[in-house]
Amino acid sequence: VDEDAPPTIRQRVVAKGSNVPPHAETFEALVERYQMSSLLLSNLTANGYKHPTGIQSHGIPILLESRDLAAISPTGTGKTLSYLLPLLCSLGAPSASGKSEAGAGVRAVIVAPTRELAHQINNECMKLAQGRKWRIILFSKATANTMTDKAARDKVDIIISTPLRLVASLKSGSLELDNVRHLILDEADRMLDAEFFPQVEEILAACTHPKIQKAVFSATLPANAEKMAMQMLKDPIRVVIGLKDT
Ligand code: ADP
Ligand code: MG
Repeated sequence: VDEDAPPTIRQRVVAKGSNVPPHAETFEALVERYQMSSLLLSNLTANGYKHPTGIQSHGIPILLESRDLAAISPTGTGKTLSYLLPLLCSLGAPSASGKSEAGAGVRAVIVAPTRELAHQINNECMKLAQGRKWRIILFSKATANTMTDKAARDKVDIIISTPLRLVASLKSGSLELDNVRHLILDEADRMLDAEFFPQVEEILAACTHPKIQKAVFSATLPANAEKMAMQMLKDPIRVVIGLKDT
């Protein structure tokens, strides 16, 4: 096996849904095809990301074409970047700049089952967002308290949170999600299980914008979670990456 070869070669890919956009062989292709900024491309390079993994090469174009996505790909295959890159690409100008076309208020929410995972996602997001003043909030009791006035909330671009934390702020009336255009559930097998689903439902109910894009990412999606995913997603594309020889 050629270790320098892009990881896609060693993976088996099944993509199902209407009008599946072609995958991107390289990160550079995203600049040509979707006008991804050179800043994002250089942040990828700076972080040592040379070739997209299978889920990145297939998932990123789908999200950049504003489609809903259920992505199933094994642990360690780079699912985080698969949703962070298109998210940062789609956000454009930071909300606080006043140039955001999508208006004021939180525009993206990433939900993960544990604080630890939310923390890792936040780190990855900050690396990728270097050089742009997007307001990215790792949601906690402390950060939620800095957002109690609406003017502060209106400047937030991305919230990364556990479901419990978000629901607590929604219940206290100190958070609105009505301008959220991108909702991502990471480790979706857990987000859609009996423990978390009631909270996810409350989050979904608060995300009232008609143009919202939703995506779920997981290493596995048991039948019941899959059923929930298909109910919450609109005309989704389902991508399954399987490692060969496993
Ligand atoms: P998953 O969520 O699928 O388990 P992660 O998103 O946590 O995987 O990524 C696993 C590791 O792979 C991380 O250390 C990440 O920085 C690295 N990684 C992700 N994408 C690439 C890439 N295209 N090239 C090299 N390393 C990558
Ligand atoms: Mg992950």
